[in-house]
Amino acid sequence: MPPKDETRLIRAGHGAGRPAKTVGPAVQKGSTVLLPDAASLYPTDGRLTYGRQGLSAQFALQAALCELENARAVALYPSGLAALTGALLAVLKAGDEVLASDVIYRPTRRFCEQVLKRFGVGVRYFDSRQDPTELVAGASDATRLILMESPGSLSFEMQDVAQVAELARARGILTAADNTWAAGLLYRPLDHGVDISIQALTKYVAGHSDVFMGSAAVADAKLAHALDDGVHNLGWSVAGDEAYQVLRGLRTLPTRLARHGTSGLAVADWLRGRPEVVQVFHPALPGAPDHALWARDYSGACGLFGFSLRPAPSAAVDAFLDALSLFGLGFSWGGFESLAISCDHQLKVRNFHPDYGGPLMRLHIGLEDPADLIADLEQGFTAYRTAKA
Ligand SMILES: *Cc1c(COP(=O)(O)O)cnc(C)c1O
Repeated sequence: MPPKDETRLIRAGHGAGRPAKTVGPAVQKGSTVLLPDAASLYPTDGRLTYGRQGLSAQFALQAALCELENARAVALYPSGLAALTGALLAVLKAGDEVLASDVIYRPTRRFCEQVLKRFGVGVRYFDSRQDPTELVAGASDATRLILMESPGSLSFEMQDVAQVAELARARGILTAADNTWAAGLLYRPLDHGVDISIQALTKYVAGHSDVFMGSAAVADAKLAHALDDGVHNLGWSVAGDEAYQVLRGLRTLPTRLARHGTSGLAVADWLRGRPEVVQVFHPALPGAPDHALWARDYSGACGLFGFSLRPAPSAAVDAFLDALSLFGLGFSWGGFESLAISCDHQLKVRNFHPDYGGPLMRLHIGLEDPADLIADLEQGFTAYRTAKA
């Protein structure tokens, strides 16, 4: 008896054969993975049995990110924040202690405070300019991991990450770095002895402000296993379409970053000459704080940096931002568009409060022409002066 319509339509349209070879990878969509025979349902060798583990596009992205980070394995997460929390949960247990840089991404700090502490993991914050020897000497027997972010993505302090990694390893302490600023390209933490290199792919790798994803890269096989288990235990997966989108961004990462970097430095250099500006915080700018450390370790700069305005009422700071027309006002960064924010509100949760000289501002320099961006900032300064007077 021939199958009825319901059956025919469910079985139809599957066997298109090998897909044609395109420039990008095939995007498979699937929860169920069909297995060839009954014996394959429960494999003992870790073979793929379920779509949550990833399919063609996710595997292609992981392979490409291994290349970017010089990694043995890269775990994918549904956001940059999930990569940070996931990597921490994968290696920590009750009774452990984390030393975290005071400048870490604020939602990561919230996770430390509201989740890690609730599960019996202690967290202490260190001044990111603390001498590495002193920092590691201050670790306790419970210290399991040191979490760094260099440069910090609001105030751009840098840390001698390699030295911290070396000293920590000698004491059996893991190190992790939120390397979103360098996008895995301008600085490769694994090459400098860091155990876990984490980044928000949402930013420069995806590059178009339209998708969330994060990664954690490792060189060590045991850590690769721990991250993998962590992803499975928490039930995370990323969609094939989004993995494809991030991989598409990766293709042009070096080209885009080069432009972000030179445009950012042009704007930073111009800002340094402005009477409204106290200081520019851009480690790639000669003479700026931590420039020597950047020059030693980095192959380039991205487009994200800060500056402080001469002290003024918050209405003048807001007037500066509101007068900008090319710069969008918004969080996140790494896309093709320029963005501006004020930062002081976010600094309140920190333990250490260096004097930045006035209200701290952050710019993301996109792929627009830098002369146009400078003209836009000039307009902002006019509004700032008027509001301040
Ligand atoms: C944006 C950001 C994250 C988080 O990434 P999401 O994908 O937005 O969750 C983590 N660290 C830094 C430094 C970031 O700028």
